[in-house]
Amino acid sequence: MNNNQPCALCEPSPHEILWQDDFCRIVLLNDADYPAYCRVELIAHVKEMTDLAPPQRARIMKVVFAVETTLREIFNPTKINLASLGNKTPHVHWHVIPRFENDQHFPNSHWGEAMRDNHTTLLDENSKKTLKEKLATLVACALTAS
Ligand SMILES: [Zn+2]
Repeated sequence: MNNNQPCALCEPSPHEILWQDDFCRIVLLNDADYPAYCRVELIAHVKEMTDLAPPQRARIMKVVFAVETTLREIFNPTKINLASLGNKTPHVHWHVIPRFENDQHFPNSHWGEAMRDNHTTLLDENSKKTLKEKLATLVACALTAS
């Protein structure tokens, strides 16, 4: 770890883990404004995608795309936003955010200026169960496909 700064993603996740293996995990952020907002987090503390070997880069993107597909199939969002910044937490992770025309910030970034009040609610247990099951299926499918 650089500069002896603690890294939040190297700690046990405070978020609900929807799926994980020894390479990466998918967490549900339980964001009140974006209830199906997921994040794919590499387990190892690696700063940049290009610090990974090509097969590892491909592997994490397969997981990211499986999350995207899952969220599209379940929630039918207007748009999926994918983001990888890591300026504050330089540990490879991908934000996968389903966006809707009536969400709080649309068409701005969800980190941008709010356009309207929030009218969403957190996912209920049934929705989380559906999400977990579909993720398990689609991630397994993505990782076994050649
Ligand atoms: Zn880390």
